[in-house]
Parts: sequence; structure tokens; C-alpha cells
Amino acid sequence: LLFSELLADFRIWETGNIFLMDDQGVVIANMRERVVLERDSFAERGKTNPEDKSLVKFFENMTQGERGTGFYSYQGVERLGAWKKIAGSVMGWTVAVAAPLVEGPIVQAQSGVLVSGGIFLICCIVIVVFISRGVAEPFQKLEKQNKYLTELNEEVAAANKAKSRFLANMSHEMRTPMNAIIGLSELLLGENDLKAEVQENLDKVYSASVTLLNIVNDILDISKIESGKFELVPVDYDLPSFINDTVMFNILRIDEKPIVFNLSIDENLPSRMFGDDLRVKQVCNNLLSNAFKYTREGVVEWRVSSERDGDSVWMTFVVKDTGIGIKPEDMGKLFSDYGQVDTRSNRKIEGSGLGLALARRMVEMMDGQITVESEFGKGSTFTARFRQKFVTDVPIGREVAESLMDLRYATRRRDSRAKLARVRLPYAKVLVVDDIQTNLDVACGMMKPYGMQVDCVLGGQQAVALIRKAEVRYDAIFMDHMMPEMDGIEATRI
Ligand code: ADP
Repeated sequence: LLFSELLADFRIWETGNIFLMDDQGVVIANMRERVVLERDSFAERGKTNPEDKSLVKFFENMTQGERGTGFYSYQGVERLGAWKKIAGSVMGWTVAVAAPLVEGPIVQAQSGVLVSGGIFLICCIVIVVFISRGVAEPFQKLEKQNKYLTELNEEVAAANKAKSRFLANMSHEMRTPMNAIIGLSELLLGENDLKAEVQENLDKVYSASVTLLNIVNDILDISKIESGKFELVPVDYDLPSFINDTVMFNILRIDEKPIVFNLSIDENLPSRMFGDDLRVKQVCNNLLSNAFKYTREGVVEWRVSSERDGDSVWMTFVVKDTGIGIKPEDMGKLFSDYGQVDTRSNRKIEGSGLGLALARRMVEMMDGQITVESEFGKGSTFTARFRQKFVTDVPIGREVAESLMDLRYATRRRDSRAKLARVRLPYAKVLVVDDIQTNLDVACGMMKPYGMQVDCVLGGQQAVALIRKAEVRYDAIFMDHMMPEMDGIEATRI
């Protein structure tokens, strides 16, 4: 119900008005306008317009009592007014009524002014009391609703935080068993005399668990970002090694598909930089893995270039593919959390829908952004531009750039778990400390091929005791950080 409609039947002399004011003296509604468009503050007007100085006093009285009456001048015209605070208004709203003195019935006679003023003031009080009751109800309802919504909002924010915390804890808890599954199946795959069927099934267990671990890691990252706990860890890193690793890792994704992987590496790229290389790699891997995932045949291209800007370097990665492309209406959803688009046609392609959202947030933390251009059915181009710290002027140079670009000819299908020829270290003595038995099993299994002597214990105290006995002098100790009773830091200190 509009204030002006509520008061449609009222008339206060000629130009008198009834209005609603907030606790700052700003008129929120009045009976003459459906919508108040201009901000008109009694308090400010009184201070800034010398002719309306008396408003200051009138407003002051208003803030002090529950109700009252008085004379004041507005736009240079002397007026009579009465006001009353709305009962129960949380925001301190007030109803007021006012009219120019000159409109009073006996204005000509000097003494009549007082009489007419007196009568008018009494009428005003009656009107104001009546109206403030009438308007109080809807406003009280509105305010109650406002309060309810504010509380609800706080609850939702708290619930969202709790969700993020829960996800972060859960993901962390899930990583331990996931690592056991991955580590143990990797160990088994390393055995020589596996039956073909066992090998095949183990391969599936291995790759399914790697996928699951990636999803868990993405969830962990997103919830860390959401709860404000995510931080970049910048280090000095070598750009050619970074590119080399990224290419070697992603080339495997071509699998059996007829895809050419083209690289364009600028020879002027600085050879070293300062930044969070692991997160940069994550962004890169996400864009490249999507390009390979959503392309059946054709070309995937990766262009790397940079520009110097004071003590920063702006890095640009362009990942271009000739894949399925993205519909214009889906473009906006790409970078939102859990935003897998076109779910029906993508159903066979696995993914959490978190990759791009994470990549965007990480790039944003590096002062940059990711943009995308795409034509549905033809292909997509993703461009990530972000800032790293300048370390050196020395460019990677032509030779390195060319050898990096030659990497695409490297054997594509490589068994990532190929049995490497390992150094034998029969004299090395190693101690592994972890409170989870499967972690010890995985660690021991991984070190077995080196022929080392590996001892395992389940806690900090046992580790300290074993070292104190000094039957063996260890060449290396792998110490878990968080363990019950004595943690890794304490054990190491002792
Ligand atoms: P997902 O884990 O599902 O791949 P992403 O956040 O990496 O999650 O990508 C979100 C969605 O964007 C994908 O589900 C896919 O529909 C679309 N998309 C991303 N990259 C490409 C691409 N190169 N070509 C076509 N569609 C893509």
C-alpha cells in the first residue's frame, strides 16, 4: 500500500503535506508524490540553507521526543508542523504533518495567526496520531520481514561456510585412502608377472582413482578459496622445465585420437620467473586437458608468450582447439562453480565442472583473467593472461624454444608408469614415520626397487626411540607432519 494512496482523502489547508521521515531527517514518502525521487533531508537543508535555519531546531526536537509540534521555515516559507514517531519502528521512522502559516483561515489578522495556528496544531496532532497508527502496521510488518531476511541471510552465509569447512575436511580425509589405492595399485602394476586380465583391471582401478583424487583435490581447492584460506605459494622457477613438464604430461591425453598438438613458444620468454608454478601448471593443465577432452580430431594448439611490465611479467597462454565448441548461451556459465554445460551431450566425458572455475579464480589471484572465444561445432580458444614477478632478462633463446616445440614429436603414447631402470642403493638406510599403516606400505613398496634398507614406524615416539637406540644410522628419515601423541615437528626437534 503506497503512502500517497493511504492518504488520498486528506487535505491540509491548501498545500499542506503529510510525510514519512527516517531517523536522519530524510523524507521517505509524502502524500503528494507516489514516489519520492529527490533526497530531501530536513537536517541537511537546515544546515545549508540560511533561510531554513529553523529546521535544525525543529529536527533536533524531533529526534528527542516521541511526539511534538512547532514552527519552522521551509524554502523560506513559515510553517506549522506536528510529528510523532511510529510505534515500534526499528528504524526510527516518524510521521509528520505541516502546512504554510499563510494558508491559515484568519491569517490577515495579526492576532488571528496565533489562534489559527493553535487550532491547526491541535488538528495536526490528532491527524498525526491517527496516521502514525495507520501506517505503523504495514511498516512494522515490513521491518519484521526485513529483520527476518537479514537473519536468514546470516544463517545462509553461516551454512555456506559450514559446507565449505565440511568439504575441506572431507576432501582432506579422503585423500589418505585415495593415496593408498593409487599407491598400492601402482605398486602392483609394477610387478612383472601379472596376468593380462589382472593388469587391465588394475589399470582401470589406477586411472579411476587418479580421476577421483583429482576431483577431490578440486573440491578441496574450491572450498579453501570459498573459506578464504587459499594462498599462493610463489617460488623462483625455470620456465623451460615448466613448459617441458606440461607438454609431456598433456601429450598423453591425445591417446589414440587423430589430433596434432602444435606448440608456439616465444624465444623471448624469460628463462626464469617468480610465481606459484604449481598453480600456473594447474591452470595450464586444465585448459589443455579440456582442449583434448572436448576435441575428437584436428588440432590443439598451445601458444606461450610474455610481456615485461616494470618488475612484473605478463604471461599469456592461448589454448586453441578444433573441438565441439561451446554454444553462445552456455558461455556465461563456463566459469561458475560446478558449471558443466550441455550436460546431456557431455555425459560420457568425465569431469567435475570445477576446473574452469578454479582456473579463473587462480588467474584472478595473479591479477589476470581468462577469456574464451568459441564457435559451436568448430572449436574454442581460451586465453589466460596473468602476472608473475620479473627475475631475469635472460631469454630462453631460440635453441631452447625450438627444442621445446619439437617435444610434440616425442613418442605420444608413453606408459606413464613405465618400468624405469632404477639406481640400486643397497647401502642406503631409510626410516619412514607415519601413523597410517597403508601409507607405510606404499612408501616401503615404492622404495623396494632401489634395494634400500627401509624401516617403518607408526609414530613420533617410536621413531625417537629407534634413533636413540642407534643400532642403525639412517641416511634419510621421511617424517609425517600430523600424528597423534607426538607429531613430526616435535619428533624432528628431539
Ligand atoms: P569439466 O571438469 O566438466 O571439464 P570445466 O570447468 O573444466 O569442467 O569445464 C566446464 C565446462 O565447459 C565443461 O563441462 C565443458 O562443457 C565446457 N568446456 C570447457 N572447455 C571446453 C572446450 N575446450 N571445448 C568445449 N567445451 C569446453
